[in-house]
Amino acid sequence: MLVDIDRHSWCLSPEALEASITKRTKAIIVVGLLGNMPDVNALTAIAARHRIPMIEDAAESLGALYLGKPAGAFGAVGVYSFNGTKLLVTGEGGMLVTDDKRLYERAKRLAHHGINKAPGARYYWSHELGYKYQYTNVQAALGLAQLDRLEELVEQRRRIFHWYAQRLHGVEGLSLNQETPGSRSTFWITAVMVSRAYGLRKEAIVRALEQRGIGGRPFFYPLSSMPPFKPFCRGRDMRTVNPVSYALSPYGVCLPSAATLGESEVAMVCDALVEILRRSHKRRLSRRTLVTARC
Ligand SMILES: *Cc1c(COP(=O)(O)O)cnc(C)c1O
Repeated sequence: MLVDIDRHSWCLSPEALEASITKRTKAIIVVGLLGNMPDVNALTAIAARHRIPMIEDAAESLGALYLGKPAGAFGAVGVYSFNGTKLLVTGEGGMLVTDDKRLYERAKRLAHHGINKAPGARYYWSHELGYKYQYTNVQAALGLAQLDRLEELVEQRRRIFHWYAQRLHGVEGLSLNQETPGSRSTFWITAVMVSRAYGLRKEAIVRALEQRGIGGRPFFYPLSSMPPFKPFCRGRDMRTVNPVSYALSPYGVCLPSAATLGESEVAMVCDALVEILRRSHKRRLSRRTLVTARC
């Protein structure tokens, strides 16, 4: 089941989660979107009450905190990604963390053709059909060196976010990532929600930014709106099932957030964005005046 997000955190909504749990619910996957943390206490309370394990997808929220505890440490299992776009980068690959010894052994076995690699175990003996999810020492070395700098990497992103927040403060109809109470977002990516009053959807804004040499990205599409996930929607109108996702998605734009960005580049992006919005606003206003004049 694909469940709605919270309007403020852009992460799984506790209310929507509670309403969507059925007898068939086997696990809850929680995503820390764009470096944000969800309302973890509310989510873990629901998971515990229903005795359903939580899997934390912390691919985007590595380095984020909730009540001082790191993203990825809340569920039965937490997963991270180290692919080229993420906060900590090792080319490709990722990591699974758990406190559960049985899950740990099973994951280790699945990652290596279903073979048990514990000392004394039979060599080359597959216990189950597995995968080849092996990580090289070179990648691990890259990752470990960055892990030492994790706070610095988070600080870079947070600094960029604050530059955006300062520059865009007071521009009507815009809002940026919000931090859930008790949490520290990494602001892995700074995203802006643009009021629909501007009459611009995310794709148009990204195109306009591109024309000015700026690489923005559209906010994610609701999974339920894409073909491979239709079978999970059981013929339901997902716009009414997940109204917040469908209301926000068309109007969100991810702004350039690379660690190497300087304040002057952020200023340039903000000026371009404001100019794009003002132009569209003016066009709409003049169109409205025209209609009024005709009447
Ligand atoms: C990047 C990302 C993934 C995928 O990570 P891979 O390392 O490419 O497997 C999964 N979930 C979220 C939320 C991500 O942002």
